[in-house]
Amino acid sequence: MSESPFPLYVFAFIFGSVVGSFLNVCIYRLPREESIVFPPSHCPSCGGAIRFYHNIPIFGYLALGGKCADCDSRISPVYPLVEALAGVTAAAVLWRFGLTMEAGFYLALIYALIVITFVDIEHMIIPNVITIPGILVGLVFGALSTDWGASRALMERVGYDLGGFLILLNEVPFLDSVFGLLIGGGVLYIIAFLYSALRKREGMGMGDVKLLAMLGAFLGWEGVVFIMLVSSVLGTAAGLLVIFRKKGDLKYALPFGPFLSIAAVIYIFTGGFRALT
Ligand SMILES: [Zn+2]
Repeated sequence: MSESPFPLYVFAFIFGSVVGSFLNVCIYRLPREESIVFPPSHCPSCGGAIRFYHNIPIFGYLALGGKCADCDSRISPVYPLVEALAGVTAAAVLWRFGLTMEAGFYLALIYALIVITFVDIEHMIIPNVITIPGILVGLVFGALSTDWGASRALMERVGYDLGGFLILLNEVPFLDSVFGLLIGGGVLYIIAFLYSALRKREGMGMGDVKLLAMLGAFLGWEGVVFIMLVSSVLGTAAGLLVIFRKKGDLKYALPFGPFLSIAAVIYIFTGGFRALT
């Protein structure tokens, strides 16, 4: 936990909610393959331009009473929800990591996960334009977190056997990133492949595979293992709930991206199983 002065938290919340407006644009436009920079925001019903003072995060929605100023059609409450969520996330990351490089990378990751979650819920897809660059950013994070001089010295000391490799994996963030990426992408790819071979239909999409590869690159191999376990528990619980409420309709497939995302956020803030020991 870091100790930041109170005004910094207020600033983080405002900054986050402004970014949240941009996340809304991504959530709406990425799955429709529209540009995220042009044209400026407009009402999806009447095409009327959103006036700048209605674009103020959260308050714009409240001032409009949840309706378009031009055509009175309902504006989805998801917009202010995402803005509030993005604001709270920025303040929470500041609280947990302080003003550090780590905080910047984790904030970017959670913002990507917010977009992925809402897109996956609505469209059942996870956009490659987030996960593929996300994998690279995760590797860069690992490389920047690595003290290369100390890593080389450690490598010479522990050698190249399995024990040495495990020590290096724990001590060298970049190696952990690469290994997390391989485990995340690899294990889920095999599960998805076996599932579709056995059941003759796609259970887990390749979007989920790339998402877990991205999470592995950011959070390392322990993060990936934690996320796989926790997201399966969450997904199974939600699946059972759906089956009971839909009276046994198993065909209703749940998007898995939100469960992977929630598990990742839990890992970022708790440190996963390490918190238990
Ligand atoms: Zn309108």
